[in-house]
Amino acid sequence: MRTPKWKILGVTDDFTECGCCGRRGLKRTVALMPMDADGNEEGTAEDVAYYGTSCAAAALGWTHGKVTDAARVAQAERDQRDAYARRVISLYAPVEFAPVRDRARVFYGRNGSLRDTGVKATEEVAKVLAEARATLADTTTGPARPSRIEDFRRYVVIFTRERSIHRVLRVPDDKDKRQEQATAAARRAEELAGSVLVVAALDGEAARDVAYTHELALEYFRQAAHV
Ligand SMILES: [Zn+2]
Repeated sequence: MRTPKWKILGVTDDFTECGCCGRRGLKRTVALMPMDADGNEEGTAEDVAYYGTSCAAAALGWTHGKVTDAARVAQAERDQRDAYARRVISLYAPVEFAPVRDRARVFYGRNGSLRDTGVKATEEVAKVLAEARATLADTTTGPARPSRIEDFRRYVVIFTRERSIHRVLRVPDDKDKRQEQATAAARRAEELAGSVLVVAALDGEAARDVAYTHELALEYFRQAAHV
């Protein structure tokens, strides 16, 4: 079997013209990265080609169905990397410029197994933040995704009595609705004998992580949430 000359990176509806045959008005295209003879990616973002599914199938020597499946899997992996990047930024961007001990407390609090291994929290935080920002800035299969602290949204987190998360709710922009939500959340927390916390994060999943990490650097997470 011959090695395909392309690697499928994902699928996008941002590009609707096939880069192979020029057909327009496609619902979506497959993002393809050229590969060298050894199967290594050969190129940068600018070398990514967008082919319709039929042309991608012809270029790879695959069936239409195999291309569609591979593109879906690749895109799901991209989405997962994005979600992870949003968690990293939500957790570490608020302490990025905090004193070393605060950064270390958050990092080792999240990565207990790395304590005393020689992995330096400050270097690691800088590294994972840079990677996360690059992930969200990648435009291979769509526009760049929000990644700054200014892009954080606020979430109300309701904890149970056992300090596990009962619910995460996006805080509405409307003031009356916000008040209504705060009242309802306080009531629910009371029923659960739990508590309420407001955190800021890039998405609801990341908000959960921030809620569990919050106490490790209270003032920095509060600052990010403007509370
Ligand atoms: Zn085509």
